[in-house]
Formats: sequence, C-alpha cells, structure tokens
Amino acid sequence: MSTAIQIAYLVASILFITGIKLLGKTKDARRGNMLSAIGMLIAIIATLLTINLLSYVEIFVCILIGGAIGLFYATKVAMTKIPEMVALFNGFGGLASFAVALSDYFQKSSATGVSLDAVNLTSIIISVLIGGVTFTGSMIAFLKLDGKISGQPITFKGQHPLNLLLLIAFVVTSVLVFLNPGNLVFIGVLIGISLLLGILTVIPIGGADMPVVISLLNSYSGMAACATGFILNNNVLIVAGSLVGASGIILTQIMCKAMNRSLTNVLLGGFGQTVATGGQDGPAIVVKEIGVEETAMLFDGASSVLVVPGYGMAVAQAQHVIRELMEQCEKRKIDFRFAIHPVAGRMPGHMNVLLAEANISYDKLIEMESINDDFPNTDLVFIVGANDVVNPAARTNPQSPIYGMPILNADKARTVIVSKRSMGKGYAGIENELFGYPNCLMLFGDAKQTITKVVSEMKDMS
Ligand code: NAP
Repeated sequence: MSTAIQIAYLVASILFITGIKLLGKTKDARRGNMLSAIGMLIAIIATLLTINLLSYVEIFVCILIGGAIGLFYATKVAMTKIPEMVALFNGFGGLASFAVALSDYFQKSSATGVSLDAVNLTSIIISVLIGGVTFTGSMIAFLKLDGKISGQPITFKGQHPLNLLLLIAFVVTSVLVFLNPGNLVFIGVLIGISLLLGILTVIPIGGADMPVVISLLNSYSGMAACATGFILNNNVLIVAGSLVGASGIILTQIMCKAMNRSLTNVLLGGFGQTVATGGQDGPAIVVKEIGVEETAMLFDGASSVLVVPGYGMAVAQAQHVIRELMEQCEKRKIDFRFAIHPVAGRMPGHMNVLLAEANISYDKLIEMESINDDFPNTDLVFIVGANDVVNPAARTNPQSPIYGMPILNADKARTVIVSKRSMGKGYAGIENELFGYPNCLMLFGDAKQTITKVVSEMKDMS
C-alpha cells in the first residue's frame, strides 16, 4: 500500500511539474492547468487513503462545500477582480499551513508528554511564521486591492526597525520554544508576532506595487506548504510547496524587473512612497480630440498599427470589437499587432488572457522588450484603456511614483490615438503628458462603444 501511495505521489509530482512547464506558453496553459488539477486530485485521493479515517463522510462533505464555493466564485468573479481572488487564495493557503502546524504542535505536545523532535519543531515554527505572515499579509493586500482600505502606503516612523525587532523577537522566542516545547505562552507569542509581521510588512506598500506583493505572498504560501509537508512527512506536499514557492519567486523577480523595483525593496516594504507630483504641478495638459470618422480614416490610411491594450480594455470588454477592428485592417493588408506590457491591466498576463478569449492569435501579441524598438517605425499606435504603461513620466520625471518603470514607447510612433472615457488617471493616480503630445489624438468614450463605431465606419468605407 505504502509503495502504491508513493508511486501515486510521484505521478502527481510529475503532473505538477509538467503542468507548470506548459503554463509557460499561452497556447498550452489550459492543458497545463488541467494536468496540474489531475495531479492534485491524485494527491488528495492518495492522502485520504493513508490517513485511515473512520469515516470519510465529513471529508467529502467538506470537499463538496469547499468545491461548490470555489466553483461559484471562479465562474462569477470578474476578470478585473482576479488579483483580489489570488490574494485570498494565497491567504487561505497560508492559513491552512498555519493551522496544520499548530494542530500538529498541540497534538504532539499534549498531556501525554512532549514528543516533538527538532525537525518537527523547526518545521512547525517555520510554518507558523510563513503561514501567519502570508495569511494577514494577503488579507491586507486583498483589502487594499478591493478598495476596502486605502491603497496609499501606510507608514510611520521606525517601521523597518520595528519589523526587524519583531523578527529578532520571533527567533528568540523560537529558541525558548525549543527549550520548553510544551509551553503554550511561547507558541502564543510566535503566533502573535507572525500575524503582526504580515500586516506590518504589507501596509507600507502602495497599491501600484501590489502585484509584486501578491506574487511574493504566493511564493510564501508555497514555502509554508513545503514546511507543512515536512511536519506531515508528506512528499507530495513538499514537492508542490517547493514548486509554488520557486515559481512565485521567479514571477516576483520578473515583475520587479518590469516595475523597476528591487526584490530587497519589496521584502522591506515601503516603496511606492514618492510623492505623486508627476505632471500635477505642471501646466494643464492641452489635448487634441479626434472623432470616430477621422479615426477610421487614419486606420484606413495606415500601413502598420500597434494596439496597446490596458486596464480600460478589460473594463470595457472591448477585446472582441478589437478583433473586428483587426479583421478590417488585415483586409486592407495593414500590419496589425499588439504591444503587451508585463503589468498592463491588473494581473500578470491579463491582456493575453482577454485577447486570447477574443480568438486573437498568440503570435500577434508581442512582449514589451521585443516590440519597443518598432514604435518609431509604426504609422499608428492605438492605445485602448492604457495609461500608466505608456506614461513618459516613467522616463523623464524622477519625482513620479512610476519613475524607472520600463514603459511601452508608444509616444515615439508617428501618430497615437488614445481611446479612453475622459482625462481620468490610471492606477498610479498621475497625469499622463503623452495625451498632450503633438502626435497624440484623444478618442473619448467607452472603448467598446467607440471602437464599434470605428469598425462600422471602416465597413462602410470598403
Ligand atoms: P491604468 O494606468 O490603470 O489606466 C487605465 C485607464 O483605462 C484609465 O486611465 C481609464 O481612463 C481607462 N478606462 C477605464 N475604463 C474605460 C473604458 N470603459 N473605456 C476606455 N477606457 C477606460 O492601466 P494600465 O496602463 O493597464 O496600467 C496598469 C497599472 O495597474 C499599472 O500602474 C500597474 O502597475 C498596475 N497594476 C498592475 C497589475 C498587473 O499585474 N498587471 C496589478 C495591479 C496593478 P478613463 O477613466 O478616462 O476612461
């Protein structure tokens, strides 16, 4: 039986690893997700068979209730709210590891005497620390993203020294737990410090940097699961936890690079605090408006078009009508591609998912590094609901909160048309001087509605 279980765990681990590998390419991602889900099912069944439950009824009732809640929210959640959902997932993942670690501690250090060895205690302490930090940190990230608390950095004097002090206190108390494994006061102090550290490390981070934090917390939840795997002596949990931990850290690094932040900065918290004066104190931006008909004519006369999608495209659900626009352009033999910024929208890969949903082929979606040199040779750049990711202040204004963030060089194209509803700001809450540039024209209105009109104009022309 035990060999069969270990083989099942091995198969599950292979499926996880293959699944993650497939997630690296957009066209294989669905298959990767499915393979990993099958791996998880195998791991759950194998684990249930090892724990010799008297009754499986409670377990299956819990799986059914949890599954139903998950299914309900997964189908109901709006694309724009996925980061919040991921934050909750991470938080509950951390909480689960935290709870398992404590339950193991209480079981083994119960009245019958202490039977905790060093490996056990170390794993429990690590699980409590990372699980606790992940739980409260993710809840703060969720509340910030959902607008329930301010997205502004919350800072106070001595914040970092306090965090360091708490970390030192955690280490000292951990030593005391080793010396007195049955002492509930010490374990209580560890619980309190870990929960507090999660809150204190996330509150100083501004909303615009939340994607990096979510990705980092995702990695933490994996590490917590990995530590729990050591507590339970469960190989598949160790493998799955390490995979989540490592992939989360890799994604964090990719995102840090995209937002020009160092990982140390993220770990210490407190970035994104530069005063948002970028463009706000300067002269008011004077823009030139363009109508639907002229826009259609500019498309008709272009030989190359680059679309820069952003959060507004997701809000307007304009991806389908953009595909129609692409079809009209391709009929006219216009080179039509998409320039994708790594943090456009509200989650990594947000634009890719939406455009794929509209059946736009993956090879039309070009990542920032590969496309940025093509902007000066492009006739027409069409910015749809993007703002921060094309804001030249990131290059020119050291006072700006987004200074240093690599941006798409949309301003360098011959003509730029921006589709948005008003002069409303983007996620970073700052003005965008691009809108006042001589080569920039504003097409005001909801993206879906205005582009629908542009497409119908183009249809009438042909
Ligand atoms: P953005 O800077 O947030 O700007 C979105 C723009 O869309 C707004 O200026 C808004 O202007 C416009 N808009 C909203 N609804 C619209 C509609 N129905 N039709 C047309 N336009 C509409 O978006 P972005 O350029 O994609 O930049 C993403 C930002 O989010 C970055 O600052 C990034 O750091 C941050 N972020 C990214 C992630 C991630 O992982 N991708 C996660 C969280 C945060 P109007 O109000 O005038 O229409």
